[in-house]
Amino acid sequence: MIFGPLSVFGPNGPRRPRFRSPMPWFWGFVLVLAAGWLHAAAGDQTKPPQTSPGISPGGYSIFHETMVDMAWPEVEKAAKDGAVVLMTTAVIEEHGPHMSCGIDAYLGYFLCKLTRRELEARGVKAVIAPPFFWGVNSATHVFPGSFAIRPETMKALLGDIFASLKSMGFRHIFNINAHGDGQHKRATIEAILEAQKQTGLNIRYLVPEDDARQMGLTGEPPSWVLLHKMPPDEGSGTPYLDIHAGAGETGIVAAFYPGLVNEPLAKTLPPTELTGQNVGEWLKDARKATPLGYIGDPAKYDVEEAQAYVPEWGRMMAEAIAGFLRREAYRKQLSQLDFDALDRKRDQMLQQYRLLDVGGVKPGMVVGEVGAGAGYLTFHLASRVGPSGKVYANDIVEEELEIIRSRAAKKGIAHVETILAAEDDPRFPKDSLEAVFMLNAFHEIRDPVALLRNLVPSLKAGAKVIIHEWEAQTPGAIGPSGDRTYTRQEFLDIISRSSFEVESIDTSFPGTHPAVYILSVKAEAKKGPGLGSYPQGSQPEAREYPLP
Ligand SMILES: [Zn+2]
Repeated sequence: MIFGPLSVFGPNGPRRPRFRSPMPWFWGFVLVLAAGWLHAAAGDQTKPPQTSPGISPGGYSIFHETMVDMAWPEVEKAAKDGAVVLMTTAVIEEHGPHMSCGIDAYLGYFLCKLTRRELEARGVKAVIAPPFFWGVNSATHVFPGSFAIRPETMKALLGDIFASLKSMGFRHIFNINAHGDGQHKRATIEAILEAQKQTGLNIRYLVPEDDARQMGLTGEPPSWVLLHKMPPDEGSGTPYLDIHAGAGETGIVAAFYPGLVNEPLAKTLPPTELTGQNVGEWLKDARKATPLGYIGDPAKYDVEEAQAYVPEWGRMMAEAIAGFLRREAYRKQLSQLDFDALDRKRDQMLQQYRLLDVGGVKPGMVVGEVGAGAGYLTFHLASRVGPSGKVYANDIVEEELEIIRSRAAKKGIAHVETILAAEDDPRFPKDSLEAVFMLNAFHEIRDPVALLRNLVPSLKAGAKVIIHEWEAQTPGAIGPSGDRTYTRQEFLDIISRSSFEVESIDTSFPGTHPAVYILSVKAEAKKGPGLGSYPQGSQPEAREYPLP
């Protein structure tokens, strides 16, 4: 037992384990920089550490760089340092006559490795949990080599693993699922929900946007889902599915685990002709529907393509995780601020509450606010319109809306409604607003012309838009930097291209060169199809849930 736990420790307490990569999460990264990351990411091709005579050195390891190859003090330290855990949920199932039955476990593990590297590059510490491969095979279990695990077994096992991670001191777990079986996914999700309840762990199921849509995750994403993007898929150009051990998966394996695919055999395999419509037959009897076990066109595998897009998955997943952690830290920071005190200071210095008079806000009015932030103006508007009126406060940052909601709850205000906006679409209810305010938000908008156009359908006849912005001045003048300001001419140019016109400009507010622009809808925009409906061909993209 050369690698038994006792060998790790000398008489004077812990010392470095004797196996390779004593601190894999750190040295692994340095090595990557030195040796070319992709090569190192596929570093399973390096020789395994065992050299015992008479024992086969084995093939690829799915433990390399995971917690399994760490000594307990290293695991303890990683948890203390706030490392997040990446955990794949995979299976052992047949992958056609040309590939190993362990492909999903290898690929899930490989994605964890790629993601970990990308996270480290973003300053996020991560460890990889032992790759989980006792998932559910509701279709392929009829083939030799596939293990038939019951969903309840999988859930119980996952529950114990989550509880173990919790007791080690980890707080965040990100699940990278590597198996498309519906029952398997459901079991994973149920185990996550249960573990969240039991342990308070922060577990997130990472899912590509497309998958989320297929799974029916519409509306607000549940708190256990973290959506990530995927590189654009060019598709196979045929109506046939390529979802199991076909061109896609075979290409990835050939690119990163070439020893696990019989490439000459793969090149001789005929394509299957299963479509989304008759995939049910496969679920009923996989061996009858696909006697060879794969769905797709393995012969068409493309190594170079896989080498290009798989690393992109890692980047996108890491981006989603890092973004999630950033937002969580931001939320914590915000929760420590006294917003009411800040608002009072703002009132004194900048008198921005006077925008209500500029906009003619009266009790009972229904008004909107674009880019409401933490709600400075929102609460002024709310107290002026009173409970018989209404304030729709939007922002593209969900955390800001959370603050508004919690402040409103504390103040006992029920007539403020928050709206998560898209970048170019304020998403206010149609034909409802008597005035709209934008305070120090206009310069943040990516495409202000598009936003203004999408605002028109929400406005009642005669509604004004009141925009408070800092005007850009000559270089060197005091005030917000150039990227946060427009000159008056730039602002007027933007408005001239929109469905609005400038009615008047108020420069009487205190502070460094503020300008308050009062806009009204252009006559032609009122008459045209712009009011109440989007102009032909300009409908905003349908998005069923906000992206992280
Ligand atoms: Zn697979």
